[in-house]
Amino acid sequence: MIPHIPGDEFVIERKVRTHLLPVFPAERSPESRRSDFEEVLIGYDEATAPLEAGRCLHCPDPAPCIQACPLHNDIPTALWLIEQGDFLRAAQVFRQTSFLSEICGRVCPPQTCRGSCTLSAYGKPINITKLEAFVADFQRRHGALKIHRAPPTGRRVAVVGSGPAGLTVAEFLVRQGHSVTVFEAMPRPGGLLRYGIPAFKLPKFVVDQKIVDLERLGVRFVTGVRIGQDLTLDDLFAQGYQAVFLGIGTWRPVEPDWEGANLDGVYMALDFLMRANLPPRDLPPEKRERPQVGRRVAVIGGGDTAMDCARTAIRLGAEEVVIYYRRSEAEMPGNREERKKAREEGVRFEFLVAPARFIGEDGRLTAIEFVRMALGEPDESGRRRPVPIPGSNFIVPVDAAVLALGFRADPTIARTTTGLEVSRAGLIRVDEEGRTSRPGVFAAGDGVTGPDLVVTASAAAMRAARAMHAYLMEQPPVEVPEIPPMVEPALA
Ligand code: SF4
Repeated sequence: MIPHIPGDEFVIERKVRTHLLPVFPAERSPESRRSDFEEVLIGYDEATAPLEAGRCLHCPDPAPCIQACPLHNDIPTALWLIEQGDFLRAAQVFRQTSFLSEICGRVCPPQTCRGSCTLSAYGKPINITKLEAFVADFQRRHGALKIHRAPPTGRRVAVVGSGPAGLTVAEFLVRQGHSVTVFEAMPRPGGLLRYGIPAFKLPKFVVDQKIVDLERLGVRFVTGVRIGQDLTLDDLFAQGYQAVFLGIGTWRPVEPDWEGANLDGVYMALDFLMRANLPPRDLPPEKRERPQVGRRVAVIGGGDTAMDCARTAIRLGAEEVVIYYRRSEAEMPGNREERKKAREEGVRFEFLVAPARFIGEDGRLTAIEFVRMALGEPDESGRRRPVPIPGSNFIVPVDAAVLALGFRADPTIARTTTGLEVSRAGLIRVDEEGRTSRPGVFAAGDGVTGPDLVVTASAAAMRAARAMHAYLMEQPPVEVPEIPPMVEPALA
């Protein structure tokens, strides 16, 4: 039953008046979190979650929060259950539409469900995401998460990439009874969730829980194999896989053409994050050395990845971390809460500046020459274009620099797969249900859209998985490797 309160203006007014003050989720203090990679969020508990959920107005259908969530989670019902203290059923409501509840609950930005909450008009949106994280964790702690699998169908599928899109497709298809193998180029599964998001925002044990869930359902993970290079898509079909899903993300950094950008001490963002945030055993041999940040670090960029890098540099012991951005703060693409957390931890910002060249001695970075910028006419993104101010150059001594300039598609699979259409930017072309130009090959996530949110990738993957299921059921059954029996309950 959906316990929506009817759209009664009196009820809404009363709720707004009496429940105006938000109850914020607990966080570690900036002082305590600067020196380690432990999670910043402490989160809601049994006492505080009902108070925050109790502010929900239960807006009439269609509630704005449901519409804004790419997965269309039934948020008002879940919040009603949290208000009643029924955390286990609230978790089930979220998990009806989301396979990544505890992950999205931690990493979804405010502009999704929370940003569209009716209470935003009063400046007090409900912290839906952190409530979702609380109930999803609560459910696991109480050993109450049970995932059911249909009897084996005799169909085999390969999933390429184990980020949010790949994990979503793997879970959907294994639940339908298909035999699922996930191929991952890195040493451990998890894709962007493990290698791209710092542990202080998404602890690695949360990713591990998801992988264990899938292994218990019978998903097989093959790591250290790069599809398109070690094996082609044709090889996978030749091995008996009847359909392939590409959840390959956008792992290639946008590389600059600044003089000196290849000096030691200049890091690409993803490379920097994975070296700093993961134990060596989880990294390829060539990426096991920790970044040497020294005392002064410059981070170039303005998105959430730049914030992640700056906050990581603080945790590595840098004393002075400055984010340099070529536009003003108003044009910054990242989210405001991430900037607030970075500032709390001691990160400084310099706006309207861009590097002109990187200066080194004996092959090692020692300084960066910057040029000041002014804002000109809007460019194709709608933001005002930064224009260098002649003669405004200045030099800043630094020990390390991190370039967070964005990501682009990896061309490896497109290059080695005949009949797979990609855009000029190398993104895979698909129809609305994730079908590529190659029969039996489906795709979703950042490799299709370019860099986007975890929840957006998961929602698109869910659509592709439904289409894959329909496609697989049209194929004849084949001999599949035996799927191990499930162990219930899943990881507590
Ligand atoms: Fe509740 Fe906000 Fe959703 Fe309305 S928009 S139902 S107040 S969470």
